[in-house]
Order: sequence, then C-alpha cells, then structure tokens
Amino acid sequence: NADAAKSRAKEFGRDNFQFYAPEFNSSAHEKFLLQGELRNALARSEFALLYQPQVDLRSGQIVAVEALVRWNHPARGLVSPMTFIPTAEETGLIVPIGDWILHEACRQNKAWQRAGLPPVTVCVNVSARQFREKNLIDRVVNALKESGLEARYLELEVTESLIMQDFELAVATMNGLQGLGVQISIDDFGTGYSSLSALKTFPVQRLKIDKSFIDDLATDENDQAVTSAVISLGQKLNLRVLAEGVETDDQVAFLRKNNCDEMQGNYFSKPLSAGDLGKLIAKG
Ligand code: C2E
Ligand code: MG
Ligand code: MG
Ligand code: MG
Repeated sequence: NADAAKSRAKEFGRDNFQFYAPEFNSSAHEKFLLQGELRNALARSEFALLYQPQVDLRSGQIVAVEALVRWNHPARGLVSPMTFIPTAEETGLIVPIGDWILHEACRQNKAWQRAGLPPVTVCVNVSARQFREKNLIDRVVNALKESGLEARYLELEVTESLIMQDFELAVATMNGLQGLGVQISIDDFGTGYSSLSALKTFPVQRLKIDKSFIDDLATDENDQAVTSAVISLGQKLNLRVLAEGVETDDQVAFLRKNNCDEMQGNYFSKPLSAGDLGKLIAKG
C-alpha cells in the first residue's frame, strides 16, 4: 500500500547516502544552521549538478539525463539533496536554488549539443514550492532563452503529490509548459495518491516507476504486479514508462519482458559529472 511504499522510499533515501560525509541531523539547532548556510550557498557557488543517464531498453541508447543537485559544503563535504531540499522548500530558498538548477541544466545540455554530441533531453526535478510560483513559466522561458536550448530537450519531473496539492493550478501550469514544448514526467510514480481518473487528464509524457517497486522486482510478486500494471497503464494512456533505480540483470530482464520503455539506475550508470557524462554520450 501507499504508506508502505512511502516508508520504503524513505529507507531507500537513507541507504542512498551512506557514502556521504556526516549530514546535518534534525535537531532545531542543526536546522537553523542549515538554513543560514543554505542562504549563502548560492552566492558561494557551492551547488553542482550530476547527471544520470536514462536508457532506452530496446535500443540501449541514452535518451535523456536527469540533473541531480549536490551541495559541496566547505566543511561537511557533499550534502545529499534529501537533507537540504526539504529545508530549502520550507524557507522558499528552493525558488532561487531551483532557478539556478534550471539554468545550469539547460546551459549544460546546450553545451553538449554545441560540442557535437547526439542530443538528449535533460530532466530537472521541480519541487512543489517552485511549481506554485506564479511565474514558473516565465522562469522556464528565461532558462531556455538564455541557454539557447530548444524546449523539446527539457523535461520537468513532478510528483503526484505536487499535482494533487492543487490539482487545477497544477494542470493549468503543466498545460502552459506543454505549450512551450517542454516535456513533463511524473517522478516516484506509485508512491503518491493520484487517482487513475486524474492521471488521464495530466498533460504528461512519461511515468517514472519509483525505485521502491523495482528493488525486489526479481522476487516480490506484488512489486512485479504493480510494475507490469504501470507499464500497461502507460501503454494504454500513450505515456512512456521508465523504471528508476535499476541495479541488476534480473530487474532488466523483467522490465524487457514486460515491455518497459526506459530505465535509469546504477546498473547502467550512477550520476556522473557533466564531463564524464559527455564522454559516455560520445561513446554512444
Ligand atoms: P529522484 O528525483 O527520484 O532521483 C532519483 C534518486 O535515485 C537520485 O538520488 C539517484 O542518485 C538515485 N538513484 C538512481 N539510481 C539508483 C540506483 O540504482 N541505486 C540507488 N541506491 N540509488 C539510485 P539523489 O540524487 O540523491 O536525489 C534524491 C532526491 O532528491 C531526488 O529523487 C529528488 O527528489 C531530489 N532532488 C535531487 N536533485 C534535485 C533538484 O535538482 N531539485 C529538486 N527539487 N529535487 C532534487
Ligand atoms: Mg527525479
Ligand atoms: Mg524518483
Ligand atoms: Mg524523489
């Protein structure tokens, strides 16, 4: 059920960062420190983006890359987005930080194209707070203009809960984005609460099945049932379906057998620096 999926998603989040330097813990004092340091982090250019490839399961080609933010904290080392995005959201700092992410991701994607690499889509995570900003569409237009990136090479990732928080506003914003030619996908699909009837009205192109359903795909019949059902749902609604967090041969075999379109995960590649990702795209 949804609660179990959510708690598994959280566990996954924790596991995912075991290799990072000690994080801010959750005491009020630590949170206060985090806010203060976040305020300065943009001015000090402490954020960086990594890019994780998304691969077409039929052709094996890299079709897109997801931009994933990292905070190079001068004392604490690399801080995970799971640690600072929630505080950035609460304080509204996600708006300027998110703007920087959007501009940087578009700039980098255009730079790969200018270097002669085969074009890919860059996917940028957008948080609820950013999505509620009245001028989100203007911000996206600016990032595209400034970078020279064509809209079709930008995709925004939103979650079901973001959409359901204010359904009508979200659909209107998504329609506006689609009018620009920007693509939209639903991230962490299956962990939120969107209804199937709502789903068919979302102007989105792609579903990303949450990693919590993929982890035990080789052995867990419930996860197999959910995953194959989401894949057929996507096919019937004319949406592409991507599996997140793919790590093993068995998972890939299941996804291929069930006609999943795309995968992302450490099986193919972990998130890479822009330079390393460029080399990987160049190799084809
Ligand atoms: P997400 O958007 O669902 O991103 C996928 C996460 O799964 C990434 O964690 C990625 O590194 C991790 N991952 C991918 N494949 C594997 C795998 O095979 N095994 C394991 N163990 N992990 C895998 P990351 O980069 O730490 O990001 C965590 C979350 O933080 C993201 O989840 C997203 O919700 C948020 N986030 C990251 N970057 C941004 C950003 O630029 N803006 C916003 N608003 N949120 C972001
Ligand atoms: Mg994402
Ligand atoms: Mg996800
Ligand atoms: Mg997520």
